[in-house]
Amino acid sequence: MSDISVLGIFVADISFSGSKIPAIGETILGTKYNIGPGGKGCNQAIAIARLGGKVSFISKIGKDNYGELALKTLKKNNISTTNIIQDENFQTGVAGILVDQSSGKNAINVITGAPSSLTTKELDNHIDTIKKSKIFLTQLEVPKEVTLHCLKVAKENNCLTILNPAPASEIKGFFDYIDYFTPNETEAEFYTGIKITNEKEAKVAAEKILGMGIKKVVITLGEKGLFYTDGKEEIYLKADNFKAIDTTGAGDAFNGGLAFALSQKKPIEECLKIANRVGGLSTLKQGAGNAMPYKKDL
Ligand code: ADP
Repeated sequence: MSDISVLGIFVADISFSGSKIPAIGETILGTKYNIGPGGKGCNQAIAIARLGGKVSFISKIGKDNYGELALKTLKKNNISTTNIIQDENFQTGVAGILVDQSSGKNAINVITGAPSSLTTKELDNHIDTIKKSKIFLTQLEVPKEVTLHCLKVAKENNCLTILNPAPASEIKGFFDYIDYFTPNETEAEFYTGIKITNEKEAKVAAEKILGMGIKKVVITLGEKGLFYTDGKEEIYLKADNFKAIDTTGAGDAFNGGLAFALSQKKPIEECLKIANRVGGLSTLKQGAGNAMPYKKDL
C-alpha cells in the first residue's frame, strides 16, 4: 500500500516555446515544440515517486495514443497503474502550453477529457487506496463532487489531506476537510480578493484563508518563494536563485515535494524547504512531468 494517494488528471502537454507568449490576434514564429506528460495530478505523483515516495495515482484516461503515453509514463516512473480507469468512450486529456523562453513563464489551456466524466461511483472502486494511505493529495481538475467525496473519505480515515486549489474555483463545503491548502498567488487572490505581490500581502491573504476554516496554508510565490502559516507559526522562505527555463509544473513539483516530506514526518520548516527546492529544480528543465527532479538532484 502507498503512503500517499493522488487523485487528479493526466494530460499530454503540447508545448510551444518562443520569444514571447503571443497576444490575442498575434502570430509569432516560435523556436521549438514538445509533447510530454502533464496534468497536475500526474506531475505531482511523478514528483513523489522520483523522490522515493510510495504513491498511488487515481485517474481516468481514454484508449488512445495519449492514453498509451500516460501508461508508459506511469510505468517508467514506477507508479502503479492499478487505479487508472481506461474508458474507450472518452479522449485522454491534452493541454496547449505557450512558453515565453526568456522568463520560462507560460499560458495554458487544458482540455481534461476522460476525467471530466469521473463519477463518485466509479471512484468508489478505488476508494480503499485512499482509505489506506497516510496522505491524500488532490487538485481541482476532476469533477468537484468527486474531489469533495474523496477528501471526506480521506479525513474520515485519518489521512492528512492536501488540496492544491488549481485551477481556482468555488469550493464551498470543502474547507473542513482540508489540512494543507496550497494556492499560488493568483489562486490565493481568487479565494481572498487580495492581490499578492509581496510577503506582507501573502500573510494577509493566508490569514483570511485560515478564517475560512482551513488549518494550514502555504501560498507559493513563484520566483519569490513561499509563505506558510497555521495561525501560530509563520514561515517565509525565499526561492532558490535558479535560472528558470520553464516554470510549467513548478507548483506540482512543490506539492509533490511537500506531500513526500510530510509523509516522512519531517518538521514543517524542513518540509517547506524540501518542497521549495523541488519546485525550483523543476524549472531547470523543459516540460512538466518530465521536469520533476529526482532525489539525487536535491
Ligand atoms: P505554480 O506553478 O502553481 O504557479 P509557483 O509559480 O508559485 O506555482 O511555484 C511553486 C514553487 O516553485 C515556488 O513556491 C518556488 O518554490 C518554486 N519556483 C517557482 N518558480 C521558481 C523560480 N523561477 N526560481 C526558483 N524557484 C521557483
